[in-house]
Amino acid sequence: MATIAAEMKSKGIDLINFSVGEPDFNTPEHIIKAGKLAMDKGYTKYTAGPGMIEFREAICDKLERENNIVYNSESILVSNGEKQSLYTACQALFDKGDEVIICKPYWVSFPEFVHMADAIPVMVKTKSKHNYEVDFHDLLNQASSKTKGIIINTPSNPTGGVWSDDALIELLKIAKMNNWVIISDECYERLVYNGQFNSTEKLNRTYNIGATVITCMSLSKTYAMTGWRIGYSAGPQKIIKAMSKLQGQATSCANSIGQFAGIEALNGDQKCVNEMLTLFKQRRDYIVKLLNELPEITCPVPQGAFYAFPDFSHYLNRRSEEKLLQDTFDISEYILSLANVVTVPGDGFGAPGHIRFSYATNKKNIKKGIMKVRRALEKLI
Ligand code: PLP
Repeated sequence: MATIAAEMKSKGIDLINFSVGEPDFNTPEHIIKAGKLAMDKGYTKYTAGPGMIEFREAICDKLERENNIVYNSESILVSNGEKQSLYTACQALFDKGDEVIICKPYWVSFPEFVHMADAIPVMVKTKSKHNYEVDFHDLLNQASSKTKGIIINTPSNPTGGVWSDDALIELLKIAKMNNWVIISDECYERLVYNGQFNSTEKLNRTYNIGATVITCMSLSKTYAMTGWRIGYSAGPQKIIKAMSKLQGQATSCANSIGQFAGIEALNGDQKCVNEMLTLFKQRRDYIVKLLNELPEITCPVPQGAFYAFPDFSHYLNRRSEEKLLQDTFDISEYILSLANVVTVPGDGFGAPGHIRFSYATNKKNIKKGIMKVRRALEKLI
């Protein structure tokens, strides 16, 4: 979809883009200033492999202050984006033939991280009516003696689902009992609209469960810093050390300027985060209302992140002038070619019938884009 959209854009076609996986805001000014200062001060060289000690200490302070989890800097690994954290965790933890559970719908990279470790992703379905939490009977039915871990992502890309504390606690207990590692992707932790976000590891410690959890977090979404490439993992020292060895051979260290700016992001004024959250919430309410007003479309209210994930299955097997729309790749392509609106087909996330709409765009675009989708749907036979 991105390739077709880029081609259309190069021809001067005006597109509305609901496919964006990053905030549409620029990085807040005080963080940019810190990045400039880093360069002026000469922070332009390699840093310690696991990350600058000052940054790892800032991460420990943040984890204690915001997530109520106490770590020391030896338990932190800074990476070039959380994507590298997740990839490295899978490489360090899983081997040929291991099975790793992934909740479906999933972020597209999860199965690939598992495949690249020569392990086997095992999908467990989740449903919007159950808050996109796993059904624990299904989970146990899919598990085997080869299961080594589970990757969870709450708040979720693509669904915006946020697991309840009860579900996380249940999962932690099952993981402990079966000796599974939980990789908890919490990159949207600050984008939660109702209620408080609780980190999986915080619940693990509060309820004394003793499961092994690798927490992966990012500065990308919280501080609109996707291009700075700064993410990090926190977990048991032995695992972090193994990940650090691997990462050291792959990329030496994370971007030094991004790490320096990251200290300011974590320690500095958090007003920018709350301002973004307020805007995202307004947009969420707006896009969900407009999507639910489309004929035969239902869109659950996402509780976090910046994605709406409506059900378009009513439009499967309908016809455009050119072809039969057999899956959401066809529907998204049809919407793009007829309405110049870019969306992301749910089939890629293991969710046939659904389409992902990112609301990291302003309300004017949201209104214009959804109206165009409506007109395109009305033309289907
Ligand atoms: N995890 C999820 C669910 C994501 O959606 C993304 C980015 O889109 C990432 C991890 C990676 O973020 P980054 O590598 O920018 O820190």
